[in-house]
Amino acid sequence: MNRRKTAIFKAGLDTLYYTGAHRALAPLTCGAGIIFTLHNVVPGAPPAFAPNRILTITPEFLKAVVVRIRAAGLDLVSLDEAHARLQGEGSDRRFACLTFDDGYRDNLEHAYPVLKRHDVPMAIYVATCMPDGTAEMWWLALEFAIAAAGSIEVPTAEGSETFSCETLEQKYDTYETVYWRLRAMDEEGKRATVRNIAARAGIDMAAAVRDLSMTWEEIAWLAGDPLVTIGAHTVTHSALAKLSDAQVEYEMAESRRLIGEHTGVRPCHFAYPYGDAGSAGPREFALADRLGFATAVTTRPGVLYPEHGHHLTALPRVSLNGDYQSLRYLDLFLTGAPFALFNRFRKVDAA
Ligand SMILES: [Zn+2]
Repeated sequence: MNRRKTAIFKAGLDTLYYTGAHRALAPLTCGAGIIFTLHNVVPGAPPAFAPNRILTITPEFLKAVVVRIRAAGLDLVSLDEAHARLQGEGSDRRFACLTFDDGYRDNLEHAYPVLKRHDVPMAIYVATCMPDGTAEMWWLALEFAIAAAGSIEVPTAEGSETFSCETLEQKYDTYETVYWRLRAMDEEGKRATVRNIAARAGIDMAAAVRDLSMTWEEIAWLAGDPLVTIGAHTVTHSALAKLSDAQVEYEMAESRRLIGEHTGVRPCHFAYPYGDAGSAGPREFALADRLGFATAVTTRPGVLYPEHGHHLTALPRVSLNGDYQSLRYLDLFLTGAPFALFNRFRKVDAA
């Protein structure tokens, strides 16, 4: 979501909050549970140019979230427990899951200690290219290149186009334009383009990836804690909808196999990279089911209703991101009201 859309969405959330409409809607919209999507947990304020700051919250906010969720009467549970409850087994109390995508080292350094102290289960969906050191974190490579350079050159069919990155405003504009241009490209084209941009800006992405990712040893250590679930998140972190049937099956099955081999625990939960409707759809949902994953999560926004017990590989999530580090937004999200309005009160979106 770009900065303008975020501002509009926040204004809508504020209206909902200050009119109290969310409280009136809550009995209809709060559902059975909620799965939160998180990425990075890092202390301190982000630098001025941080277009990926939406992916980061602070450990202090994470702790406040845990306390607030419990105060609201929800149980913080593992994905296995969420799966059981969606199938009508066990408690019918409302629940929340905290899930972290990709496999960042800050999850171990800054999220795990907070959650461990409060006895909160966590799930980390690992893209195996992260611990393997082969991840192409193109969204970060683009950020680093724009942060470092006064301009960047983006290859085009006709040659190349130059974007200014002198001022902070220009850096944000350039990021926004190039990011969405890349999102529209196929995986290979996108990666080749960013490799080119990063190389020209002198960015060593291989070193950055080693720095940002957990190692296999760290992941295996975490997997040994019963509070931690390691889920699969593909091998190459690709938008699956853009790949062939065989490639999609490989991404799902091989990431599960590799994680099982390195940690001794074969994952039974999966997250689709990016997770929006353009990156994962009915073909992916059916395949995750056929391959035997107990649950698979998207980033389509929404809370969980009992109906999701019949769509366990197309579960919605709610992003707990850096743009919404206020308990006011958390309170709203827990009512389910913003997503019910956004989804026009359709409970399941698995198409
Ligand atoms: Zn991811």
